[in-house]
Amino acid sequence: MTGHVLIVEDDRVTRMRLAGYLREQGYRVTEVADAEAMQQVIDTDPPEILLLDIGLGGKDGLTITREQRARSRVGIILLTSRDEQVDRIVGLEMGADDYVTKPFDRRELAARIKNLMARIADIGQSAPTAAAVDSFGPWHFDRIRRRLVSAARIEPLSGQEFDLLDALAGNPGVVFGRARLSEIVGRGDLRPGDRTIDVLVGRLRRKLEADPANPDWLLTRAGMGYCFAVPEGS
Ligand code: CA
Repeated sequence: MTGHVLIVEDDRVTRMRLAGYLREQGYRVTEVADAEAMQQVIDTDPPEILLLDIGLGGKDGLTITREQRARSRVGIILLTSRDEQVDRIVGLEMGADDYVTKPFDRRELAARIKNLMARIADIGQSAPTAAAVDSFGPWHFDRIRRRLVSAARIEPLSGQEFDLLDALAGNPGVVFGRARLSEIVGRGDLRPGDRTIDVLVGRLRRKLEADPANPDWLLTRAGMGYCFAVPEGS
């Protein structure tokens, strides 16, 4: 799928190179040099993805990430230099979806944008509906504060735990394969033998199941993946 990419980069040469390449890939591209111009575009023609330089004049990319994440689900890919490793981690913690390191490998950049576009389309299609589960067993799933709440306790969820539970509980009875779940939690392509998703499910089960070894809610579908149980009465 294609979509609208907004590049926020104050280095004109890098910006033009990026824009030219992404247009060749079929994306609609808007280029700006700072946060102010970025906001004008977001207000009038919101992009699917922000390609965001960390080191901007004026408001920096990390501040922009935090602000945008607080108010929208726009995809955010950070453009970072080799020496900005700490900023990169902070950026991901603030809610950026991914990053690429300058100088860019064009194919890597294209792959990351394509993955994120697909994820965003997925999220759009699986937006919570009437069938989405908010309460199950003793739990209320507080999507706003990203946590599980029962009369007895509160279980905060990590970003990946939340994304996984949001997708599964948002579509009870629908089986999600490990590869799809890997995309949903932002891990991208799953390598053979990668147990990330199983480990995540295990962590969630220990948080929300009465007996994690015999789950009532987060169910394994052998050879296919995982699904969330359909609550009785729905
Ligand atoms: Ca810069």
